[in-house]
Amino acid sequence: MTYPNTQLFINGQWQDAADGKTLAVFNPATGKEIGRVAHAGKADLDKALEAAQKGFETWRDMTADARSKIMRKAAGLMRERAAEIAPLLTQEQGKPLAEAKGEAMAAADIIEWFAEEGYRVYGRIVPSRWSLSVRQMVLKDPVGPVAAFTPWNFPINQVVRKVGAALAAGCSMLVKAPEETPAAAAALIRAFADAGLPPGVLGLVYGNPAEISSYLIPHPIIRKITFTGSTPVGKQLAAMAGQHMKRVTMELGGHAPVIVCEDADIALAVKSAGAAKFRNAGQVCIAPTRFLVHESIKNEFAQAMAKYASGLKVGEGLTEGTQMGPLANPRRLTAMAEFQADAVKHGAQVLTGGKRIGDSGNFWEPTVLMDVPLEAKVFNDEPFGPVAALRSFDKLEDAIAEANRLSFGLAGYAFTRSLKNADLLSRKVEVGMLWVNMPAMPSAEMPFGGIKDSGYGSEGGPEALDAYLNARSVAVMNV
Ligand code: NAD
Repeated sequence: MTYPNTQLFINGQWQDAADGKTLAVFNPATGKEIGRVAHAGKADLDKALEAAQKGFETWRDMTADARSKIMRKAAGLMRERAAEIAPLLTQEQGKPLAEAKGEAMAAADIIEWFAEEGYRVYGRIVPSRWSLSVRQMVLKDPVGPVAAFTPWNFPINQVVRKVGAALAAGCSMLVKAPEETPAAAAALIRAFADAGLPPGVLGLVYGNPAEISSYLIPHPIIRKITFTGSTPVGKQLAAMAGQHMKRVTMELGGHAPVIVCEDADIALAVKSAGAAKFRNAGQVCIAPTRFLVHESIKNEFAQAMAKYASGLKVGEGLTEGTQMGPLANPRRLTAMAEFQADAVKHGAQVLTGGKRIGDSGNFWEPTVLMDVPLEAKVFNDEPFGPVAALRSFDKLEDAIAEANRLSFGLAGYAFTRSLKNADLLSRKVEVGMLWVNMPAMPSAEMPFGGIKDSGYGSEGGPEALDAYLNARSVAVMNV
């Protein structure tokens, strides 16, 4: 299976770093080097910034229709190429081929939705309170060139949500995509380039994340920052952006509660939450992580969840039938071992899993832990891996209090047949996204983002475009 070396994309040209520097890319299923990615230096960033400014001036002055046509063409190319892109994504990130293909196909849907929404960047006419001869207008303009920082768990999806909204609003964007999973992100950018995007509208760089962010965020050409990643890094970058008065969207970590009520459909809860839990080996910001199960059904639910987890086929993502691949990097394996040892030390019961599989590749058993004390690390820090931690509750109010105990507020799940419970949960659980009696089903047309320490700003719905627009007041007196 071939895997390409990945170049930078600057001013409409694929190119190596000016100093020729590269980084190795590894296959997480084998631990072997599969390719190299160009490592941008300051000279490359300066070129990319200048191109982003020129690209912005070109793109801003095109009609919504012209922009939409290019975006829709890029969506078509993603769909056509999904079967070729998927193996690249699986080789660099580890997820099963079907999930990788699904991610490439979903990118096409996201681009198309934003391509349409770009027609609806409406302003307003507001009646003047002083005179009929004054026409007051609210105008919406693109903020300018944007710097985007994206992580390795969904190398295409995390980029396309940002690119789709920014381009639809008329912004240019310089993307710093993940060095660990570079080829899939490059394939997405290539679809836009091949669709006829003018030079500089999209740029793509890789390198040292901290060096690049500390150069781009303060740079006067960059008008907005968007970051997806961990809360500690997000807080650092938001602080830096604040010092330079830059607009910010932050999509950060979560620790999603799953509240399974006494009256829940247990089979539905296990199937929905189980699929969401182990998808992408649990390396999903909206993955269910804290399972809060009513005392009366705790054993039944836990046994069914353990059966589901132990039945999953774990292996290389390219192998037919694989349901869960390896963790994306060795850091996650170390983190899983720490979570596991700490949970056991605190008295959690291991129903299934809890160990590394083999000694090559980053494979970790799908794990279910029961009666996990609140003090255990896994109930406090984002696990970002294939571990379901369970504890029970008596009263729904207590489960809601536990759901809201942490500083995170990204996703939440609940299972209940009662309208009263569903209503209470909708109002009281402090998350940006709540799914009741169903798996997570994010889509381009719904807001996507968190509250509290999970960040601010949305990456879906009309709100996603607002994040890339300035609203200006203009009043004209007819003299
Ligand atoms: P990390 O905190 O070092 O990095 C997270 C992401 O931020 C990576 O993509 C990294 O390249 C980027 N990054 C780190 N420092 C940066 C900087 N100074 N400037 C710009 N970008 C920077 O952790 P990691 O080991 O890569 O990932 C583990 C943790 O990250 C997980 O536990 C999870 O909480 C979080 N994470 C969240 C998401 C998400 O979808 N929200 C995705 C990936 C990782």
